[in-house]
Amino acid sequence: ELVAQAEEYIEGVESLPVAPVLDQAKLQQLLDTFSFDDPGTPIDVLRRFTGELKKHQVHTPHPSYFGLFNPAPSFMGIIGDSITATLNPQLAGWSHSPLAVETERRLIEAFAEKLGLARDETDGCMTSGGAEANLTALLCALVDRWPGVLDQGLQSIGARPVFYASSESHHSFLKAARTAGLGAAALHLIPATDKLTMDVALLRMAIEEDRELGYEPFLIVGTAGTTGAGVVDPLAELADIARANRLWFHVDAAWGGPAILVPELRPVLAGIENADSITLDPHKQLSVPMGAGMFMTRRRGILGKTFSVSTTYMPKEAERLAVADPFVHSLQWSRRFIGLKLFMTLATVGWAGYSAILRHQAEMGDLLRDRLRANGWTIVNQTRLPVVCFTPSDQTWDMATHQRVSDAVVKSGSAWISTILLGGSVPALRACITNYRTQPEHIEKLVTALTKARELN
Ligand SMILES: *Cc1c(COP(=O)(O)O)cnc(C)c1O
Repeated sequence: ELVAQAEEYIEGVESLPVAPVLDQAKLQQLLDTFSFDDPGTPIDVLRRFTGELKKHQVHTPHPSYFGLFNPAPSFMGIIGDSITATLNPQLAGWSHSPLAVETERRLIEAFAEKLGLARDETDGCMTSGGAEANLTALLCALVDRWPGVLDQGLQSIGARPVFYASSESHHSFLKAARTAGLGAAALHLIPATDKLTMDVALLRMAIEEDRELGYEPFLIVGTAGTTGAGVVDPLAELADIARANRLWFHVDAAWGGPAILVPELRPVLAGIENADSITLDPHKQLSVPMGAGMFMTRRRGILGKTFSVSTTYMPKEAERLAVADPFVHSLQWSRRFIGLKLFMTLATVGWAGYSAILRHQAEMGDLLRDRLRANGWTIVNQTRLPVVCFTPSDQTWDMATHQRVSDAVVKSGSAWISTILLGGSVPALRACITNYRTQPEHIEKLVTALTKARELN
């Protein structure tokens, strides 16, 4: 039944409306039909619940989902996650699931090497996603600079630590600053240029001024593929500034990182090889099911330093073998085999397969830009990656008008797009190619839906 359900969905998703009608009361009534006092049979619950779930979600695997960074999951990724659920390997300690732990290590090393970090220098861990990887980066940078915080906390620093990211960076850094106890005010957002990348001149000034004011800068975050517009900060320059100021340099390549696998897109990430640490989310451009993130660092030893604890109850084999137990190497304790869905996909499509998929998605992005321009839209972001932000060529719309048009497209069920406020001031429509099955016909359908929605507004 499970296989039948999965097959039907994968083959039939395109015939479903991309987005559901939202009706919370109806969902509550629906849940009332599943009684915990009077349980149903497995087949009934499986069929009924899966059937309902298909009616009540945005279908991110739909080729007309031009949305946030959610992919269509790869077939072998689905298989991998199913095996993980079935065998339920515990990756907290090496000895409970040594092959799984070694598999994740192999993936980390392979991707780190592609990104330009030397294989024998790299370390890392799989995470639930980009937010955890970014928090990991913040903690590592903090501990690297002030090892005393591990025992004595932030007050032992005797200064006010600050770090930098662009105003277009992901809000997970705000949460990371709060979670680490630094407070949101420790994140100094550097304004973006009109290209929506971090203004490096302003960054240099901010570091200098902050030092004069008694702050202690410790970290620069560059974004490789912003969530709003898919643009990449000037990573090489940021690396130079970080080195000159002896600051940790982290690159948040959660979405954009896989561009490294496509020769003609690789230059977009120039400078990433100088990062102290990198975030990359396989559950975005590498098309594996959620959740799968990666944290990679060239600072061997920093993860062990940041997360080490010693217990009497955890297995000890790893100590004798001098391999890292994941539970003393990352934020998580009990740990799912996050890497299997990526491993199964990579081991079957290879680097060449990923490269072809990513190239296809970039080409669909270029096609969308062309077709939009030919139909009275102006592209307002500059990137080679497949995020397209656009607005009408012949008139100025406020955010509310963009939102109405976006809503009309979503409501039509033919596609999912969204709106974005770029640089804090430029409203636009946003469409991202997230699906390896998106073809020219889907691009054409989107452009038609946009024309229709525009005429009605
Ligand atoms: C998606 C994203 C994140 C957050 O990652 P999650 O996997 O959602 O936790 C962080 N930074 C960037 C640039 C992202 O695109």
